Amino acid sequence: MQIQKSKNSLLTPAREGFFSIDTEGTIIEWNEGAETIFGYQARESIGKHISLIVCDTIVEKEIRDISRLKNDNSGEYEACCKNKNGKTIFVAFSASAVKDEKGNVASISQYLEDITEKRINEEKQSRLAAIVDSSDDAIISKTLDGIITSWNPSAAKMFGYSEKEAIGKHISIIIPKDRIDEESLIINNIRNGQKIDHFETIREAKDGTERQISLTVSPVKDSSGKIIGASKIARDISMRIEAEKQHELYIKRLQELNKYKDEFMVMASHELKTPLTVIQANLQLLEMGADPKMELLEKTVKHVKKLSALISNLLDVSKIQAGKLVLTQAIFDINHLIAETVVNLQQTTGTHHLIFNKNDQALMTNGDADRIEQVLVNIIGNAIKYSTEPGDIIVNATKQDEEILVEVADKGIGIPEKDIQNIFLRYYRVGGIAASFSGSGVGLYISSEIIKSHGGRLWAESKAGEGSVFYFTLPAV
Ligand code: ADP
Repeated sequence: MQIQKSKNSLLTPAREGFFSIDTEGTIIEWNEGAETIFGYQARESIGKHISLIVCDTIVEKEIRDISRLKNDNSGEYEACCKNKNGKTIFVAFSASAVKDEKGNVASISQYLEDITEKRINEEKQSRLAAIVDSSDDAIISKTLDGIITSWNPSAAKMFGYSEKEAIGKHISIIIPKDRIDEESLIINNIRNGQKIDHFETIREAKDGTERQISLTVSPVKDSSGKIIGASKIARDISMRIEAEKQHELYIKRLQELNKYKDEFMVMASHELKTPLTVIQANLQLLEMGADPKMELLEKTVKHVKKLSALISNLLDVSKIQAGKLVLTQAIFDINHLIAETVVNLQQTTGTHHLIFNKNDQALMTNGDADRIEQVLVNIIGNAIKYSTEPGDIIVNATKQDEEILVEVADKGIGIPEKDIQNIFLRYYRVGGIAASFSGSGVGLYISSEIIKSHGGRLWAESKAGEGSVFYFTLPAV
């Protein structure tokens, strides 16, 4: 038989079954207990080899073990056997050698006990224990008084208390003070034999941080069916709640963007229509020979430019969204680009004075000069547009470590704090007085995307009523 050291004590109460074998392994005695365990009557087994009841896979080993027993005097083992129906059973043996007068082993007595059920239960228990140990959920059991009686590794991970620290303590160690009433509600349900399913709540870890969990609590009964405690499974749902929050924020953001888009459509149709109407009217006047021609032509050209700029912006937005904004790369000195842009933009305003504090040092960067110029025009243009009072607009460019930092400061209407982050969003326009200035809400979005694709950042600092400073960086070469 497959011989393993038994966990049970050998000489404890007489085992119910008994048989004996001679030194060749032939069964020579067989009692009623053995009949019950194996299903063979004495007449069916006596005279047969022990392989009758030993699992086929271990017959050879069994023969070796008998030889060993001849020398040993006794042993206590558990072995895999088969009964008369061919079913595998597990049997605990207490074997002892019976010697003749000369001291030679004459036979081996085997006292037996059927431990199949016990073995199955043990296996079931250890499988369950393995599941509990490896579960990602915290699995905890407690008495009806709330004293923790078991605490798996995930509970230790989730709440920060080791198994040793938690067992014997009251479950309130993980219940936040303002939720302590939940425990009596849960225990009342458990006392009434009711399970609590997926109860979403908050528990507290050892370091005081909160855990969002979903609790399932079930009654634990003893063998007589009496409820003696509760087992609870706590699943950490912080990630799910966070994902739900993010999803809600995302939806809210989409709704907001949709709102801006609707507002943009209204504004765009107005901004497209106004110059078109003016152009059409001016052309009709010119056709009729109206004077002064030059003035009419200049006005017309101004509106054509406005229209063209708006259409370019709209095309840029679609290019960015499609990921098709193409940049050409070349190394250039941004000092020259700023100086040129400032001169050009100065011609568009008679009320504001543009001051560029040109840097003596060359500020070389690698990028698309046309696109960077577009950013400068947008930011300096905004500084002029959103400064109602005449005044200075200061432009600075400096090198800071590996970056070039460009600043554009105005003393205009400023931007309320709540809007600062949003002004770089597509179609976003600040309300109130700012809304009375014409604009499309896409300039800063395009600028920020251009700067980002150059590996830089664009941001603003501002105070409503006091003015704004826009900053952007570009990698220096
Ligand atoms: P717009 O065409 O509306 O000017 P932008 O994307 O360029 O679009 O700017 C977004 C919003 O940021 C503007 O509607 C305006 O409210 C605000 N803004 C931008 N620059 C300034 C500035 N220098 N001073 C005050 N507000 C500004």
